[in-house]
Amino acid sequence: MCSVGDAFSVDVADSLETKSYKCKDCQNEFQGMGKKIICPTCLSKNVEVA
Ligand SMILES: [Zn+2]
Repeated sequence: MCSVGDAFSVDVADSLETKSYKCKDCQNEFQGMGKKIICPTCLSKNVEVA
């Protein structure tokens, strides 16, 4: 049978570490922590890991 609920706990362990992020909208680089990263300058959620 199909099993619904595969192990999908990826970024739980390092979710408390700060990482460098870069905003794709205003090119701002900043330190982010957690899962919901937003740009502190323009409040955009369109960011990527630098
Ligand atoms: Zn930004």
